[in-house]
Amino acid sequence: EAVINRIAAGEIIHRPASALKELIENSLDAGSTSIKITVKDGGLKLLQIQDNGCGIRKEDLPILAERFTTSKLSTFSDLSRLTTYGFRGEALASISYVSNLTVVTKTKADTCAWKACYADGSLTPAKAGATADPKPCAGNDGTTITVENLFYNTPTRLSALRGSSEEYNRILDVVTKYAIHNPHVSFTCKKTGSPSPDVSTPSSSTTLQAIRLLYGQTLAKELLQVSVSSSAKGKGRAPSTTGDISDEEDLDSNESWSAEVQFTNANYQAKKMTLLLFINHRLVESSRIKKALEAVYNGVLAKGASPFIYLSLQIDPRSVDVNVHPTKKEVHFLNEDVIIERIADAIHEALIGQSQ
Ligand code: ADP
Ligand code: MG
Repeated sequence: EAVINRIAAGEIIHRPASALKELIENSLDAGSTSIKITVKDGGLKLLQIQDNGCGIRKEDLPILAERFTTSKLSTFSDLSRLTTYGFRGEALASISYVSNLTVVTKTKADTCAWKACYADGSLTPAKAGATADPKPCAGNDGTTITVENLFYNTPTRLSALRGSSEEYNRILDVVTKYAIHNPHVSFTCKKTGSPSPDVSTPSSSTTLQAIRLLYGQTLAKELLQVSVSSSAKGKGRAPSTTGDISDEEDLDSNESWSAEVQFTNANYQAKKMTLLLFINHRLVESSRIKKALEAVYNGVLAKGASPFIYLSLQIDPRSVDVNVHPTKKEVHFLNEDVIIERIADAIHEALIGQSQ
Protein backbone atom coordinates (compact mmCIF):
# COMPACT_ATOMS: atom_id res chain seq x y z
CA GLU A 1 0.00 0.00 0.00
CA ALA A 2 2.82 2.39 0.86
CA VAL A 3 4.22 1.83 -2.61
CA ILE A 4 0.95 2.82 -4.26
CA ASN A 5 0.75 5.90 -2.05
CA ARG A 6 4.30 6.79 -3.00
CA ILE A 7 3.45 6.61 -6.67
CA ALA A 8 0.33 8.72 -6.09
CA ALA A 9 2.42 11.22 -4.13
CA GLY A 10 4.88 11.46 -7.01
CA GLU A 11 2.00 12.46 -9.26
CA ILE A 12 1.32 15.42 -7.00
CA ILE A 13 4.85 16.32 -6.03
CA HIS A 14 6.87 16.16 -9.22
CA ARG A 15 10.05 17.80 -8.13
CA PRO A 16 11.46 19.96 -5.34
CA ALA A 17 9.93 23.11 -6.83
CA SER A 18 6.43 21.63 -6.79
CA ALA A 19 6.82 20.63 -3.14
CA LEU A 20 8.01 24.13 -2.36
CA LYS A 21 5.07 25.71 -4.17
CA GLU A 22 2.68 23.80 -1.92
CA LEU A 23 4.63 24.78 1.18
CA ILE A 24 4.73 28.46 0.20
CA GLU A 25 0.98 28.44 -0.38
CA ASN A 26 0.45 26.91 3.05
CA SER A 27 2.62 29.60 4.63
CA LEU A 28 0.71 32.32 2.82
CA ASP A 29 -2.61 30.76 3.80
CA ALA A 30 -1.35 30.88 7.40
CA GLY A 31 -1.02 34.65 7.14
CA SER A 32 2.78 34.80 7.20
CA THR A 33 4.63 38.03 6.54
CA SER A 34 8.04 36.39 6.46
CA ILE A 35 9.00 33.25 4.55
CA LYS A 36 12.56 31.97 4.68
CA ILE A 37 13.65 29.13 2.45
CA THR A 38 16.81 27.09 2.67
CA VAL A 39 17.82 24.57 0.03
CA LYS A 40 20.51 21.94 -0.27
CA ASP A 41 21.34 20.02 -3.42
CA GLY A 42 18.53 21.51 -5.49
CA GLY A 43 16.04 20.67 -2.76
CA LEU A 44 16.74 16.96 -2.87
CA LYS A 45 18.81 16.81 0.29
CA LEU A 46 16.97 19.59 2.06
CA LEU A 47 14.08 21.93 1.48
CA GLN A 48 13.22 24.02 4.50
CA ILE A 49 10.65 26.75 4.82
CA GLN A 50 10.28 28.87 7.90
CA ASP A 51 7.28 31.14 8.31
CA ASN A 52 5.83 33.41 10.96
CA GLY A 53 2.21 32.46 10.33
CA CYS A 54 -0.51 31.25 12.66
CA GLY A 55 1.15 27.94 13.46
CA ILE A 56 -0.53 24.56 13.87
CA ARG A 57 -2.28 23.52 17.05
CA LYS A 58 -0.63 20.66 18.86
CA GLU A 59 -3.80 18.58 18.75
CA ASP A 60 -3.84 18.83 14.96
CA LEU A 61 -0.32 17.46 14.57
CA PRO A 62 -1.17 13.73 14.76
CA ILE A 63 -3.37 13.88 11.66
CA LEU A 64 -1.53 16.63 9.81
CA ALA A 65 -0.02 14.38 7.16
CA GLU A 66 -3.03 12.16 6.66
CA ARG A 67 -4.58 12.46 3.24
CA PHE A 68 -7.50 14.86 3.01
CA THR A 69 -6.65 16.58 6.26
CA THR A 70 -7.30 20.23 5.75
CA SER A 71 -8.25 23.07 8.04
CA LYS A 72 -9.46 25.04 5.06
CA LEU A 73 -12.89 23.50 4.60
CA SER A 74 -15.32 23.13 7.43
CA THR A 75 -18.47 22.24 5.56
CA PHE A 76 -19.15 20.79 2.18
CA SER A 77 -20.79 24.01 1.05
CA ASP A 78 -17.42 25.69 1.52
CA LEU A 79 -16.43 23.85 -1.62
CA SER A 80 -18.37 26.37 -3.63
CA ARG A 81 -16.64 29.26 -1.93
CA LEU A 82 -13.11 28.11 -2.30
CA THR A 83 -10.60 30.77 -2.88
CA THR A 84 -7.63 28.47 -2.68
CA TYR A 85 -6.65 25.54 -4.80
CA GLY A 86 -4.90 23.94 -1.91
CA PHE A 87 -8.03 22.61 -0.36
CA ARG A 88 -7.69 18.89 -0.48
CA GLY A 89 -5.19 18.38 2.25
CA GLU A 90 -2.94 16.31 0.06
CA ALA A 91 0.27 18.26 -0.05
CA LEU A 92 1.77 17.39 3.32
CA ALA A 93 0.49 13.83 3.06
CA SER A 94 2.12 13.42 -0.33
CA ILE A 95 5.39 14.92 0.84
CA SER A 96 5.44 12.57 3.84
CA TYR A 97 5.30 9.56 1.52
CA VAL A 98 8.34 10.55 -0.47
CA SER A 99 10.66 12.23 2.03
CA ASN A 100 11.59 12.66 5.68
CA LEU A 101 9.21 15.36 6.82
CA THR A 102 9.61 17.33 10.04
CA VAL A 103 7.32 20.06 11.34
CA VAL A 104 8.19 22.49 14.12
CA THR A 105 5.33 24.79 14.94
CA LYS A 106 4.07 27.20 17.54
CA THR A 107 0.80 29.09 17.78
CA LYS A 108 0.56 32.33 19.73
CA ALA A 109 -1.41 30.51 22.41
CA ASP A 110 1.27 27.86 22.92
CA THR A 111 3.99 28.37 25.49
CA CYS A 112 6.50 26.28 23.56
CA ALA A 113 6.89 24.93 20.05
CA TRP A 114 6.14 21.33 19.07
CA LYS A 115 8.14 19.11 16.83
CA ALA A 116 6.68 16.22 14.85
CA CYS A 117 8.16 13.87 12.26
CA TYR A 118 6.18 12.08 9.59
CA ALA A 119 6.48 9.12 7.26
CA ASP A 120 3.87 7.57 4.99
CA GLY A 121 1.08 9.81 6.22
CA SER A 122 1.61 9.33 9.97
CA LEU A 123 3.70 10.49 12.87
CA THR A 124 6.97 8.65 13.13
CA PRO A 125 9.72 8.63 15.77
CA ALA A 126 12.52 11.14 15.23
CA LYS A 127 14.99 8.36 15.94
CA ALA A 128 14.91 4.67 16.62
CA GLY A 129 13.64 3.89 20.10
CA ALA A 130 11.82 7.19 20.56
CA THR A 131 8.06 7.56 20.56
CA ALA A 132 6.26 9.09 17.62
CA ASP A 133 4.26 11.74 19.44
CA PRO A 134 5.08 15.45 19.08
CA LYS A 135 7.84 16.70 21.40
CA PRO A 136 8.06 20.13 23.00
CA CYS A 137 10.95 22.26 21.82
CA ALA A 138 12.11 25.84 21.54
CA GLY A 139 10.81 27.88 18.65
CA ASN A 140 9.20 31.11 17.53
CA ASP A 141 5.58 31.66 16.56
CA GLY A 142 5.00 30.15 13.15
CA THR A 143 5.93 26.97 11.36
CA THR A 144 9.14 25.49 10.03
CA ILE A 145 8.74 22.60 7.63
CA THR A 146 11.78 20.54 6.77
CA VAL A 147 11.74 18.14 3.85
CA GLU A 148 14.81 15.91 3.67
CA ASN A 149 15.86 13.29 1.16
CA LEU A 150 13.01 13.97 -1.23
CA PHE A 151 12.22 10.95 -3.44
CA TYR A 152 14.73 8.75 -1.60
CA ASN A 153 12.20 5.92 -1.87
CA THR A 154 10.99 6.63 -5.40
CA PRO A 155 14.01 6.09 -7.65
CA THR A 156 12.04 6.57 -10.87
CA ARG A 157 10.92 10.01 -9.78
CA LEU A 158 14.46 10.82 -8.75
CA SER A 159 15.91 9.76 -12.06
CA ALA A 160 13.42 11.93 -13.97
CA LEU A 161 14.88 15.07 -12.41
CA ARG A 162 17.49 17.38 -13.82
CA GLY A 163 20.69 18.20 -12.03
CA SER A 164 20.56 20.03 -8.74
CA SER A 165 21.39 23.40 -10.25
CA GLU A 166 18.48 23.13 -12.68
CA GLU A 167 16.19 22.11 -9.82
CA TYR A 168 17.47 25.04 -7.80
CA ASN A 169 16.69 27.40 -10.66
CA ARG A 170 13.14 26.13 -10.72
CA ILE A 171 12.93 26.75 -6.99
CA LEU A 172 14.19 30.30 -7.43
CA ASP A 173 11.63 30.81 -10.18
CA VAL A 174 8.75 29.78 -7.91
CA VAL A 175 10.01 31.92 -5.02
CA THR A 176 10.52 34.93 -7.30
CA LYS A 177 7.01 34.69 -8.68
CA TYR A 178 5.38 34.36 -5.28
CA ALA A 179 7.52 37.24 -4.00
CA ILE A 180 6.24 39.49 -6.77
CA HIS A 181 2.67 38.49 -6.20
CA ASN A 182 3.00 38.99 -2.44
CA PRO A 183 5.06 42.16 -2.05
CA HIS A 184 3.78 42.60 1.51
CA VAL A 185 5.59 39.39 2.48
CA SER A 186 9.34 39.18 2.94
CA PHE A 187 10.87 36.23 1.09
CA THR A 188 14.38 34.88 1.22
CA CYS A 189 15.79 31.86 -0.53
CA LYS A 190 19.31 30.57 -0.12
CA LYS A 191 21.48 27.51 -0.38
CA THR A 192 22.65 26.04 2.91
CA GLY A 193 26.00 27.45 3.88
CA SER A 194 25.73 30.31 1.44
CA PRO A 195 26.42 33.66 3.11
CA SER A 196 23.88 35.60 1.05
CA PRO A 197 20.42 34.72 -0.22
CA ASP A 198 19.74 34.42 -3.95
CA VAL A 199 16.31 35.93 -3.53
CA SER A 200 15.60 38.48 -0.86
CA THR A 201 12.67 40.85 -0.66
CA PRO A 202 11.62 43.13 2.17
CA SER A 203 8.11 43.05 3.58
CA SER A 204 5.64 45.83 2.81
CA SER A 205 6.98 46.77 -0.59
CA THR A 206 4.90 47.23 -3.73
CA THR A 207 4.54 44.99 -6.75
CA LEU A 208 6.59 47.40 -8.79
CA GLN A 209 9.35 47.54 -6.20
CA ALA A 210 9.42 43.76 -6.09
CA ILE A 211 9.64 43.52 -9.88
CA ARG A 212 12.42 46.10 -9.90
CA LEU A 213 14.32 44.19 -7.26
CA LEU A 214 13.94 40.78 -8.85
CA TYR A 215 13.90 41.50 -12.57
CA GLY A 216 15.86 44.73 -12.70
CA GLN A 217 15.45 48.46 -12.95
CA THR A 218 15.30 48.57 -16.73
CA LEU A 219 12.43 46.18 -17.00
CA ALA A 220 10.48 47.90 -14.25
CA LYS A 221 10.80 51.25 -16.02
CA GLU A 222 9.20 49.93 -19.17
CA LEU A 223 6.18 48.35 -17.57
CA LEU A 224 2.74 49.05 -18.89
CA GLN A 225 -0.32 48.33 -16.86
CA VAL A 226 -3.90 47.48 -17.70
CA SER A 227 -6.85 46.31 -15.70
CA VAL A 228 -9.73 44.50 -17.28
CA SER A 229 -12.91 43.25 -15.71
CA SER A 230 -16.20 41.65 -16.55
CA SER A 231 -18.49 44.08 -18.33
CA ALA A 232 -21.19 43.60 -15.71
CA LYS A 233 -19.35 45.91 -13.37
CA GLY A 234 -18.34 48.28 -16.12
CA LYS A 235 -15.07 49.37 -17.58
CA GLY A 236 -15.04 52.49 -15.47
CA ARG A 237 -14.57 50.60 -12.27
CA ALA A 238 -11.41 51.60 -10.54
CA PRO A 239 -8.85 48.86 -10.69
CA SER A 240 -8.62 47.14 -7.37
CA THR A 241 -5.22 47.68 -5.90
CA THR A 242 -5.40 44.87 -3.40
CA GLY A 243 -6.55 42.38 -5.99
CA ASP A 244 -9.04 40.82 -3.61
CA ILE A 245 -12.42 39.60 -4.55
CA SER A 246 -13.98 42.02 -2.20
CA ASP A 247 -17.70 42.47 -2.31
CA GLU A 248 -20.36 39.83 -1.99
CA GLU A 249 -21.94 40.98 -5.22
CA ASP A 250 -18.90 39.90 -7.11
CA LEU A 251 -19.06 36.45 -5.66
CA ASP A 252 -22.72 36.13 -6.46
CA SER A 253 -22.30 36.75 -10.14
CA ASN A 254 -20.98 33.70 -11.87
CA GLU A 255 -19.37 35.78 -14.53
CA SER A 256 -17.59 38.29 -12.41
CA TRP A 257 -13.88 38.50 -12.97
CA SER A 258 -11.09 41.02 -13.06
CA ALA A 259 -7.52 41.00 -14.19
CA GLU A 260 -4.55 43.17 -13.42
CA VAL A 261 -1.70 43.01 -15.88
CA GLN A 262 1.74 44.54 -15.77
CA PHE A 263 3.81 43.92 -18.81
CA THR A 264 6.55 45.18 -21.03
CA ASN A 265 7.47 44.64 -24.61
CA ALA A 266 10.97 43.61 -23.80
CA ASN A 267 12.40 41.69 -20.93
CA TYR A 268 16.08 42.46 -21.08
CA GLN A 269 17.07 39.53 -18.96
CA ALA A 270 15.30 36.71 -20.71
CA LYS A 271 15.50 34.85 -23.97
CA LYS A 272 11.89 33.79 -23.91
CA MET A 273 8.63 35.21 -22.65
CA THR A 274 8.42 35.51 -18.89
CA LEU A 275 4.88 34.86 -17.71
CA LEU A 276 3.75 35.13 -14.12
CA LEU A 277 0.19 33.88 -14.06
CA PHE A 278 -1.85 33.91 -10.88
CA ILE A 279 -5.48 32.90 -10.68
CA ASN A 280 -7.08 33.72 -7.34
CA HIS A 281 -3.58 34.15 -5.95
CA ARG A 282 -2.36 30.70 -6.94
CA LEU A 283 0.51 30.34 -9.37
CA VAL A 284 -0.86 28.34 -12.28
CA GLU A 285 -0.21 27.52 -15.89
CA SER A 286 -2.58 27.85 -18.77
CA SER A 287 -1.35 26.99 -22.23
CA ARG A 288 -4.35 28.79 -23.69
CA ILE A 289 -3.50 32.04 -21.96
CA LYS A 290 0.13 31.61 -22.90
CA LYS A 291 -0.68 31.05 -26.56
CA ALA A 292 -3.04 34.00 -26.68
CA LEU A 293 -0.39 36.29 -25.21
CA GLU A 294 2.29 35.01 -27.55
CA ALA A 295 -0.02 35.78 -30.45
CA VAL A 296 -0.48 39.35 -29.26
CA TYR A 297 3.23 39.90 -29.03
CA ASN A 298 4.00 38.19 -32.30
CA GLY A 299 1.99 40.86 -34.06
CA VAL A 300 3.66 43.75 -32.29
CA LEU A 301 7.21 42.83 -31.41
CA ALA A 302 10.33 42.56 -33.39
CA LYS A 303 11.57 39.00 -33.66
CA GLY A 304 13.74 37.93 -30.78
CA ALA A 305 12.25 40.31 -28.25
CA SER A 306 11.02 38.64 -25.10
CA PRO A 307 8.14 40.15 -23.19
CA PHE A 308 7.54 40.08 -19.47
CA ILE A 309 3.97 39.60 -18.32
CA TYR A 310 2.60 39.49 -14.81
CA LEU A 311 -1.06 38.63 -14.89
CA SER A 312 -3.23 38.33 -11.82
CA LEU A 313 -6.72 37.11 -12.53
CA GLN A 314 -9.54 37.02 -10.02
CA ILE A 315 -12.48 34.86 -10.90
CA ASP A 316 -15.35 33.53 -8.93
CA PRO A 317 -13.87 30.46 -7.28
CA ARG A 318 -16.98 28.56 -8.28
CA SER A 319 -16.11 29.01 -11.92
CA VAL A 320 -12.65 27.51 -11.58
CA ASP A 321 -12.73 23.83 -12.34
CA VAL A 322 -12.37 22.27 -8.92
CA ASN A 323 -12.47 18.82 -10.40
CA VAL A 324 -9.14 19.37 -11.94
CA HIS A 325 -6.59 18.14 -9.52
CA PRO A 326 -5.37 21.07 -7.43
CA THR A 327 -1.80 20.49 -8.37
CA LYS A 328 -2.40 19.86 -12.03
CA LYS A 329 -0.53 22.58 -13.73
CA GLU A 330 -3.16 23.40 -16.28
CA VAL A 331 -6.09 25.33 -14.98
CA HIS A 332 -9.49 25.76 -16.61
CA PHE A 333 -12.33 28.09 -15.81
CA LEU A 334 -15.69 29.20 -17.14
CA ASN A 335 -15.80 31.64 -20.04
CA GLU A 336 -12.13 31.08 -20.66
CA ASP A 337 -12.29 32.23 -24.28
CA VAL A 338 -14.04 35.51 -23.55
CA ILE A 339 -11.82 36.36 -20.61
CA ILE A 340 -8.61 35.53 -22.45
CA GLU A 341 -9.69 37.54 -25.45
CA ARG A 342 -10.49 40.60 -23.35
CA ILE A 343 -7.11 40.45 -21.65
CA ALA A 344 -5.24 39.92 -24.90
CA ASP A 345 -7.10 42.84 -26.51
CA ALA A 346 -6.27 45.16 -23.63
CA ILE A 347 -2.59 44.27 -23.82
CA HIS A 348 -2.59 44.68 -27.57
CA GLU A 349 -4.15 48.13 -27.34
CA ALA A 350 -1.65 49.27 -24.75
CA LEU A 351 1.28 47.99 -26.79
CA ILE A 352 0.02 49.70 -29.94
CA GLY A 353 -0.59 52.89 -27.99
CA GLN A 354 2.94 52.81 -26.68
CA SER A 355 4.57 52.31 -30.05
CA GLN A 356 2.81 55.32 -31.57
P1 ADP B 1 -4.33 22.08 2.40
O1 ADP B 1 -3.39 23.24 2.20
O2 ADP B 1 -4.96 21.65 1.13
O3 ADP B 1 -5.27 22.29 3.54
P2 ADP B 1 -1.95 20.67 3.12
O4 ADP B 1 -1.61 19.21 3.12
O5 ADP B 1 -1.14 21.56 2.26
O6 ADP B 1 -3.47 20.79 2.77
O7 ADP B 1 -1.90 21.17 4.62
C1 ADP B 1 -2.72 20.53 5.58
C2 ADP B 1 -3.07 21.44 6.73
O8 ADP B 1 -1.90 21.70 7.49
C3 ADP B 1 -3.56 22.82 6.31
O9 ADP B 1 -4.95 22.82 6.07
C4 ADP B 1 -3.18 23.66 7.51
O10 ADP B 1 -4.16 23.56 8.52
C5 ADP B 1 -1.94 23.01 8.05
N1 ADP B 1 -0.71 23.71 7.63
C6 ADP B 1 0.17 23.30 6.69
N2 ADP B 1 1.20 24.15 6.58
C7 ADP B 1 0.97 25.14 7.47
C8 ADP B 1 1.69 26.34 7.85
N3 ADP B 1 2.84 26.69 7.26
N4 ADP B 1 1.15 27.11 8.83
C9 ADP B 1 -0.01 26.76 9.42
N5 ADP B 1 -0.73 25.66 9.10
C10 ADP B 1 -0.26 24.85 8.15
MG1 MG C 1 -1.74 23.26 1.05
